[in-house]
Amino acid sequence: MVPISALQQKEKAIQLAWSHYQALPSFDNFVEFALLLNSLTDFLIDKSLTGLLHASRQLEQQALALFGDEASHPVSAKVMEELSQRVARLGELLRHYAGVSEMLQERREQDGAPLPEVQPVTAHVSLIGEAGTHWEELVSQLGYFGISVHQGNWEMPTADDADDSVFLVDLGGLAISSWLGALNQLRERRPLAQIICLGVPEDFVALDRALRAGADHCLTQGTPLQRVVGQVLERNGSSEQDPYRVLVVEDSRTAARVICRSLEENGIATRVLHDPSLSLAAIRQFQPDLILMDMYMPCCTGVEAARVIRQHDEFLSIPIVYLSGETDIGLQVDALRLGGDHFLTKPFNPVVMNAVVKSKIDRYRALRRSMLNDSLTGLLNHTSTKQALAVALEAVQNGGDSVAVAMLDIDHFKGVNDSHGHPVGDQVIRSLAWLLKQRLRRGDIVGRYGGEEFVLGLVGVSPADAKEILDRIREDFSRISFSVPGGSFRVTYSAGVAACLDCQPRCLEALLEAADEALYVAKRQGRNQVVLSGHLSCCQPHASLF
Ligand code: GH3
Ligand code: MG
Ligand code: MG
Ligand code: MG
Repeated sequence: MVPISALQQKEKAIQLAWSHYQALPSFDNFVEFALLLNSLTDFLIDKSLTGLLHASRQLEQQALALFGDEASHPVSAKVMEELSQRVARLGELLRHYAGVSEMLQERREQDGAPLPEVQPVTAHVSLIGEAGTHWEELVSQLGYFGISVHQGNWEMPTADDADDSVFLVDLGGLAISSWLGALNQLRERRPLAQIICLGVPEDFVALDRALRAGADHCLTQGTPLQRVVGQVLERNGSSEQDPYRVLVVEDSRTAARVICRSLEENGIATRVLHDPSLSLAAIRQFQPDLILMDMYMPCCTGVEAARVIRQHDEFLSIPIVYLSGETDIGLQVDALRLGGDHFLTKPFNPVVMNAVVKSKIDRYRALRRSMLNDSLTGLLNHTSTKQALAVALEAVQNGGDSVAVAMLDIDHFKGVNDSHGHPVGDQVIRSLAWLLKQRLRRGDIVGRYGGEEFVLGLVGVSPADAKEILDRIREDFSRISFSVPGGSFRVTYSAGVAACLDCQPRCLEALLEAADEALYVAKRQGRNQVVLSGHLSCCQPHASLF
């Protein structure tokens, strides 16, 4: 869910900047207005709020077109009127969204859940178009993940449904003329909804039309059901990310302030360093996604500082973007050769700086994801699961929440592969991964430890509660029916849970071992159950692992 207060602040700031410009139509006031729009558009990009994003982007593009030309201000009365209308429409949409979000939040709080640590599954989607037999299967598959489906036709009013719901629109392979108008209208009526089109004819024009009409995503005709389910689950999953972090190494306080202000307006967290000799400690502590490096500083140049940073293997891939007044091509080439990723020449356009910074960070994060996450499930891989657990145990030692560690293993999985083939087995693994991700909290550790084995770290949860949570998920998992030609089958898992009272990083191996032993007991006792580990060797006085 998008933080409402952040949106409300942005909306207010834009309205204010626009009224300033209307009162005093100077270039400076327009720049302020355009920057705020740029910041809102950037903010909305990964929030899956297409309607809002369209409105914001349209206005932003119109503003940016007038941005570079000082002579064009004040803008003509006609342009002023047009912009005013768009600002008002954007404001309406933003306020509407905030209202809907608040209502949803209240509803969630009312629904409650017996265990506060488990996120209640309240997701639903609307399925519209010409109903067919294939719908039944889709509806039941989504149901296993706790997603309810409202079926209806194009006119479906769904007055009670919140606007941020997901619409699955089945175009049924039909000609463009038979759905284009209706799709446009749906987007008009539901500016905030997410729209996934199914059965889109496999041709460029059809895909382009559907996307332009406001579809967020198109799945072409013949897409396997599991992929459709996967799309919905991904859209329903939390897409929240940590804010981007940028370390600004810049000796000029004024320049640093201008840079940070612009980045922070775009939701990017910043840390300023005036003295580059402190950069190693700052990188370790702040863990930036990117470094903005001034080229000329009193004690060393930016290139020299970058060279020192790049001597450390763990900092080799952090993008470094230089800020410089320098237009000497030779020096720029040298700087890039010595470990820089981009050059921004002062005075730089803040919109361009934000775009460069964000795109570099996106690529850096994608690279890290592919290193740290398992490609089949997107969960943490074996190594990063252990690293994440070690970090969590370290936090316990420093007064953080306790951690219950669980090991899960799918029962008789070999039989699934043998009877239905490896790809179906993969789908089972992916489904369990989704279910775990959907049902555990954001701060919990969810990793694929190997094959059909998962390791979890439940933060701030007692071992008994951890067992109860995993039992509830186990029951739901056992109800998911996997369709195969000529029938369907169900699968279960077993799990072992371990926790220690006085957790320390050195307990990690002992915890994993204890969870594994408990898992073994669960298997021996007949599978499809969760077993709590009795004792932990690392907590005994004589135990010393290192
Ligand atoms: P148990 O209830 O005792 O856990 O029985 P099991 O059959 O699940 O246990 P076993 O460890 O003998 O089998 C695990 C199987 O998982 C063996 C292997 O072929 C399969 N497997 C491992 N990784 C993958 C994978 O990525 N995809 C698929 N489809 N199968 C995998
Ligand atoms: Mg300088
Ligand atoms: Mg196994
Ligand atoms: Mg198994």
